[in-house]
Amino acid sequence: MIIYKNEKDIQAFLLPKKQQGHVTGFVPTMGALHQGHTGLIGKAKKECGMVAASIFVNPTQFNDPTDFEKYPHTLEKDIYALEVAGCDVLFLPSVKEIYPDGLGRKVNYELGYLDTVLEAIYRPGHFQGVCQVVERLLKMVQPTNLYLGQKDYQQFMVIKKLIELSAFDINIKICPTQREADGLAMSSRNMRLSETDRAKATCIYKTMLFISSQIKDYQTDLKKLKIQAEQILMEDGFKPDYVEIANANTLKLLDKWDGKTPLVILVAAFLNGVRLIDNMVI
Ligand code: AMP
Repeated sequence: MIIYKNEKDIQAFLLPKKQQGHVTGFVPTMGALHQGHTGLIGKAKKECGMVAASIFVNPTQFNDPTDFEKYPHTLEKDIYALEVAGCDVLFLPSVKEIYPDGLGRKVNYELGYLDTVLEAIYRPGHFQGVCQVVERLLKMVQPTNLYLGQKDYQQFMVIKKLIELSAFDINIKICPTQREADGLAMSSRNMRLSETDRAKATCIYKTMLFISSQIKDYQTDLKKLKIQAEQILMEDGFKPDYVEIANANTLKLLDKWDGKTPLVILVAAFLNGVRLIDNMVI
């Protein structure tokens, strides 16, 4: 695996390959890698001749400075994991490389409804920051395929919208959420959980299974179910930001189901200061 730290060098390597007809798969990450990330690399490796990953903890997408400061950094282990997973190129830019003119944002991304619900409410400015970094990375790497995890469901929809807005010629590939044996979605933030909280954290997955088992037909009261689910989480020591059930294609929040529309359950909750998110498509 070759490591590049600036735009000029990574482009000097990747762009001629693209011109020669190589298909490049790109996996952007914030590091502290786990099997969720390496699963994306593995899928990209199967589908593309060349796999590039990036590690960059993007300051502009953190609305909570403590979350940014406490974000885990495990670079040596990450490099090893990427090598093992078959990654060809790692892009490791500095903040200055990504934001040569400073962290301020010159454009407002017109994300519409997606920037008004769920994560957008609880993390103001988060998706604008995500678009800022992803747009920059995509211009630098110029991949054929972009690999994203279902774990960050709303983020996937936002990036899809960004690609439409920017008219990038890039295919999005979505990969299923990788889970621990007890159902907890793998996440870099899980490292911050104490042993006791790690054992409790599976409650999010179990709560989504509970919701899913209760949705039987169009008569199901989704609103009541969401309140019940929040209560289950609170009894286990979580502070939920939201438990929602939405149209899986549009993220429109639903209190009633027509018995046909594909649904997604979305949960965000704090466990002793660590914010966990998860979702389940049903
Ligand atoms: P992050 O490093 O958290 O920014 O994540 C980088 C990419 O990995 C994003 O596309 C995430 O959705 C994806 N990802 C993170 N955790 C998982 C997981 N447990 N399963 C599948 N994909 C994941």
